[in-house]
Amino acid sequence: MGYSRKKLNLAGQRYGRLTVLRPAENIGSRTAWLCRCDCGNEVVVRTNQLRSGHTTSCGCKGTGATPGVGLPGLTFVDGTCVEMLRAKTVRRNNTSGVPGVDWLTAKGRWRASICFKGKRYYLGSYTAFADAVEARKEAEAALHDKFLAEFAGSGLQRAANG
Ligand SMILES: [Zn+2]
Repeated sequence: MGYSRKKLNLAGQRYGRLTVLRPAENIGSRTAWLCRCDCGNEVVVRTNQLRSGHTTSCGCKGTGATPGVGLPGLTFVDGTCVEMLRAKTVRRNNTSGVPGVDWLTAKGRWRASICFKGKRYYLGSYTAFADAVEARKEAEAALHDKFLAEFAGSGLQRAANG
């Protein structure tokens, strides 16, 4: 019986406040995982950041917010500008006209990235522009749209109406 190299599977593992849900698209050449934080937020984290203990929450830890206390959904707002997400603003130094897709002159490739909760996640670089846009859109759907949906449906608005 030979030892066969199996792809690392961290699904179900816990690292601090993070529970690994499933593999995410690699960040550059690094394996990455979609994780759910105890506060309910979902983040993409690189394997080595999880295993080294470098990343143990979505970013809510250490911000002074106490997840689960007060209005539900409030901790989602920390570090993320909801209005900017809604507008899907194209930054001025963006080279493609598509948010999160930049042309890397040195590499001759398109790089996809996404900002979430004040952090930038790299989604890989692509020779085809359409592939980079696709990678960005998938990440957007996974992160931003979920964030906005939960924010819109959170107790903040209900509290305002009450
Ligand atoms: Zn969190």
